[in-house]
Amino acid sequence: MWHDSQMTRVEHWVVAQRQGQIAALNMLGQREKFDAVPFFWSQHYDVPINYVGHAEQWDEITVDGDIKTKDCLLKYKHKGRVLAVASIFRDLASLEAEVKMEHGAAL
Ligand SMILES: Cc1cc2nc3c(=O)[nH]c(=O)nc-3n(C[C@H](O)[C@H](O)[C@H](O)COP(=O)(O)OP(=O)(O)OC[C@H]3O[C@@H](n4cnc5c(N)ncnc54)[C@H](O)[C@@H]3O)c2cc1C
Repeated sequence: MWHDSQMTRVEHWVVAQRQGQIAALNMLGQREKFDAVPFFWSQHYDVPINYVGHAEQWDEITVDGDIKTKDCLLKYKHKGRVLAVASIFRDLASLEAEVKMEHGAAL
């Protein structure tokens, strides 16, 4: 569950790993909520794509940088709010976006 308490199915392994950690803590008696920001990366030949957040619908995509030269950060927005970020060779920006989303900060 993430963002406005929506139930979200994310089929990527970092999310699966983090869910396993929370499930294990709860089996040991802790009462932890799973609210990690969804994250995945995917390698497409020489193009690694990092994706943070979850956007099923958006009304705007902003592009910082250049997709063709494989140096970019895309923001998927709905009504001005950033729901997800996809990047190519912008690992630090991707991690920073994840931290901001974790804290509910605006991007
Ligand atoms: C081709 C492909 C490419 C992918 N690429 C990416 C990627 O680039 N990035 C990314 O983040 N994710 C990727 N994924 C998704 C990622 O692999 C899955 O989301 C993740 O592995 C899910 O983890 P899981 O533990 O929930 O399930 P699984 O990894 O499927 O593990 C389930 C385990 O349970 C076992 N099992 C099933 N039934 C039983 C049973 N009855 N008894 C005992 N054991 C059982 C299975 O054998 C399996 O070992 C990819 C998936 C595929 C198929």
